[in-house]
Amino acid sequence: MMATEIKGIAASEGYAIGRAVILREDAVPEGITYVESGDEAAELNRFDSAVAAARVELEALLERMKSDGREKEAEIFEAHLMLLEDEELIGAAQERIRGQRYKAESAMNESGEEVAEMLASLDDEYLRERAADVRDVSRRVIRKLGNASDSEAAKAPVANKNEKSILFAFDLTPSDTAQLDPSVIGGFVTAAGGRTSHSAIIARSVGIPAIVGAGEGALHIEEGQLVIVDGAAGLVLIEPEDKELAHYQALQEQAAGKRALLDQYRGKPSISADGHQVELVANIGSVQDARQAREHGAEGVGLFRTEFLYMGRPDLPTEEEQFTAYKEAAEAFGPDAPIVIRTMDIGGDKELPGLQLEKEDNPFLGYRAIRICLDRPDLFKTQLRAVLRASAFGNLKIMYPMIAALAEWRAAKALLEEAKQELRSENIAFNEQIEAGIMIEIPAAAQMADRFAREVDFFSIGTNDLVQYTMAADRMNPKLGYLSDPLHPPVLRLIDQVIRAAHQENKWVGMCGEMAGTPVALPILLGMGLDEFSMSASAVLPARALLSRLDRSKLASLAEAVLDLDDAEEVRSYVEQHVPELNR
Ligand code: PEP
Ligand code: MG
Repeated sequence: MMATEIKGIAASEGYAIGRAVILREDAVPEGITYVESGDEAAELNRFDSAVAAARVELEALLERMKSDGREKEAEIFEAHLMLLEDEELIGAAQERIRGQRYKAESAMNESGEEVAEMLASLDDEYLRERAADVRDVSRRVIRKLGNASDSEAAKAPVANKNEKSILFAFDLTPSDTAQLDPSVIGGFVTAAGGRTSHSAIIARSVGIPAIVGAGEGALHIEEGQLVIVDGAAGLVLIEPEDKELAHYQALQEQAAGKRALLDQYRGKPSISADGHQVELVANIGSVQDARQAREHGAEGVGLFRTEFLYMGRPDLPTEEEQFTAYKEAAEAFGPDAPIVIRTMDIGGDKELPGLQLEKEDNPFLGYRAIRICLDRPDLFKTQLRAVLRASAFGNLKIMYPMIAALAEWRAAKALLEEAKQELRSENIAFNEQIEAGIMIEIPAAAQMADRFAREVDFFSIGTNDLVQYTMAADRMNPKLGYLSDPLHPPVLRLIDQVIRAAHQENKWVGMCGEMAGTPVALPILLGMGLDEFSMSASAVLPARALLSRLDRSKLASLAEAVLDLDDAEEVRSYVEQHVPELNR
């Protein structure tokens, strides 16, 4: 009989084989219980002591994660410590005890649920997933009220020394996940959660195969059953047949072999078989991403999506905070590595509570990115000053998103000049020669690339937006997949035109849209002469390996030929047919 299969969301790639262990949820206080009148002060004391004990526990966890170099997990516990100071969470619970005579457990649970439910109702997926962090913190305080120790997830039993455990849970709290020991837990499956939940993020960072959102049916598993987690397909196989087991063991070996092969390309230059060198850099959204990108073999950063510093918080990041983030990102790579800081690109699919932007009918065609920055020079200059100050500590470059008109570039340049002037008069050091460039992600800018190239220091082509604006196909709409393809010749023609225009003026040109890390696009872009490829960190080593097999001198004619084909499908098969190195 074939194995029973459960389908979920593929949250972290890889294959795990092991015995099921089930993590039961903590008991949550049901209903509301009250203390006697007059006992409020004592109850408040009991609550404050529990919060203090939770703080001690979190501080210890934070230290442990930091000393183990687990930065992502450390960030989560830092955020949890901040939640312990939160007025809406802790202050509201205290108020329930003081004003409404709630028992401490009820007060914490009610306040936690209120904040979590508010977050869970938001449109923004990232903020929605933060509801899990609030519940995690509130459960920790409740456990402390009962004097319980930390969750036992990390100590889940192992069936036998040679077999790892596969953890099944309704949902893993971020602290549960951070404490998973990869030498014991081979993978995990949760009934709830999405791809951007913290448990999924940590699983990817630690490299544990994981499936989330598998539904409550997944919890009907029996403890000790043999399970396969296929983290690539989002599939759980329960009690697999010998044939299936052998298949997955082979896949595990293959994956390990591939990893070892790719490892050879770490720290090597990005160079084609005939000696043409390009730059393979990473797209990042945080300092932690920068460190990881470095580990993944990136030579620097081609796109720092700085808007992530602004999101998920009610206020705006200060100049100091931004300065530290940009400086630390540069320091993660060392003084010479290029670090392209893109000024914030809010709007479109990215909302910002701190700015209270109006809802728009067409946010992708609306008040977004540089359009907001030029309208709010106060906000923009804070960021420009932070980037300039950080430029004294590394090879930073500045890049403006969503440029449609020359006037926008010139206005941004004037504000950068003002910021420089301010720093000079304050005697603050920065790199006077800092390069400033623009993203080419609007067809208008691509069409005027020859004019822009005379004035800017570099271009970076943002194909995610360039495709949606060229094909008039919303990048978030899954029904338009056939149009949202950068291999369509109209897009390729614009890219070709932009690269030629830049080189005509001796300027370098990069690409930071998803296309840059797509294997089938690499031969075309190399043939067109693209200088810098910026991609998600995990794509860097595979791209360097492919590059090393390609002969650039043969690709110029391929790059020209694809411009004359009918559509993306034709381009794809043409490249696959003419570039056998893709399949090795
Ligand atoms: C792009 O549009 O290609 C790009 C890299 O920017 P973002 O995805 O952040 O809009
Ligand atoms: Mg874009």
